[in-house]
Amino acid sequence: MTKRNLPILPGSAIGVLGSGQLGRMFAIAARRMGYRVHTLSPETDTPTGQVADVEITSPYDDLDVVRRFAAGVSVVTFEFENVPALTAQAAAEQVPVRPSGAVLHVTQNRLREKIFLTQNGIPVPLFRRVTNAEELRHALSQLGVPAVLKTAGYGYDGKGQVKITSLNPNLPPSTFESELVLETFVDFDSELSVIGARGLDGTFAHWGPIRNTHTHHILDISSTPAELPETTVREAIEITRCVLEQLDVVGVLCVEFFLAKSGRLLVNELAPRPHNSGHLTFDACLTSQFEQQLRAVCALPLGSTTLLRPAAMANLLGDLWQEGEPNWPAACSWPDVKLHLYGKLVPKSRRKMGHLTAMAESVEDAVAAVRQARNSLKPGFV
Ligand code: AMP
Repeated sequence: MTKRNLPILPGSAIGVLGSGQLGRMFAIAARRMGYRVHTLSPETDTPTGQVADVEITSPYDDLDVVRRFAAGVSVVTFEFENVPALTAQAAAEQVPVRPSGAVLHVTQNRLREKIFLTQNGIPVPLFRRVTNAEELRHALSQLGVPAVLKTAGYGYDGKGQVKITSLNPNLPPSTFESELVLETFVDFDSELSVIGARGLDGTFAHWGPIRNTHTHHILDISSTPAELPETTVREAIEITRCVLEQLDVVGVLCVEFFLAKSGRLLVNELAPRPHNSGHLTFDACLTSQFEQQLRAVCALPLGSTTLLRPAAMANLLGDLWQEGEPNWPAACSWPDVKLHLYGKLVPKSRRKMGHLTAMAESVEDAVAAVRQARNSLKPGFV
C-alpha cells in the first residue's frame, strides 16, 4: 500500500472545496468523528465555514492559495462540482483529491456526462449538441418537441434551461453564448435518485432509490423507500454501481433518474458529491451520505446504509421567510421531525436555507408529516 492509500485517521484535517450546506453537513459528520475541517471558497461566514476549524476566503483560481490550503490537510474533497479543473489539479500536487479531478471533468459538463453514460450503455434522453440557431433548428427537426435546451456547463436547479415547444423557436441571441445540449422532454412518471459511495478499495454502498418531487425545477420533497418494482430498484442500483466503477469514484456520487411512464429508467444527471435528495440519510440511516463521504475519502471501511425508519425530507427555501421569521417552535413540536438550518444570513427567494426530515411508520405518513410540519412554519399558522 502506498503512503497515499493509507487510511487517514481521526485528528487529521480534511480540506473541502466549496462552502455551502453540503460542506456544512460533511463538516458536522467529520467533526463528530474527531477530524478537523478546512474549507476554501470565495465567500466568508459560510455555512461550512461556520462549523469548520479553518475558513479560507479566496477565489478558486488563486492556485498559490489552493496549494497552501491543500498542503495544510491530509486529503481534499469538494461539495460543489464546478470547482475549476486547475484548482483540483493544484490541490492534487499536494495531497489526494477524492473524487479525482477526472470525475469533476466529466460531470461538470452535461455533454461530456451524456457521452460517458452512452458509451457505457446507460440510457439517457436523446440529445444533440447545439452551438447556434441553425444547429438548434436541425436538432429540433431530429428530436421533435417538446424538448429542453440546457447549457452544457454550470447548470443546476433548472438554471440555464428552457423548455422548447416550437420547431422554430424565437430565442434571444445571448442563448447561444455558451455550449448547449438539446434533449427530449421526458414525460416521466416520477423522478428518482440513487446515491452511491465507493471506497478506495472499490467497495460499493448505496441507500436504494429515493423518490423526488420538484417545484419550479428545485427539489421540494424526497422520500424513501421509493416503493418501486423490484426490477426497477435493481436496475437503478446497477446503473449507479456501473457509474461509480467506470468513473473510478472514491467518495459519494448521486445519479438522478427519470422513470418514464413506459417504466424505462433514463439518467438525467450525475452529481459527484452528497446530494440534496440524500439529506434524509442524516437522520434516517445508520450512516449518512456525509459520513460515508468522509469514510471513503479517508480510505476507511464504508458504514452500513440501513434505513432506520421510512423518511421524507422537505426543503426550506428563502420564500418561506416572506412574511417574517418562520415559526420554529411549531416545527419542533413534531416529535418525529428534525430541523436543519444552514446558517445562511439572507433568505433569498429559491435559496435553500434548510430542510426538515420526518420519520414515520410508512413513507406516506412521513411525506404527510413533513408537509404538515413545513406548513406549520408559516407565521400565523394555527
Ligand atoms: P436538471 O437541472 O437537469 O436536474 O433539471 C431540473 C429539473 O427539470 C429536473 O429534475 C426535472 O424535473 C426537469 N427536467 C430537466 N430535464 C428534463 C427533461 N429532459 N424532461 C423532463 N423534465 C426535465
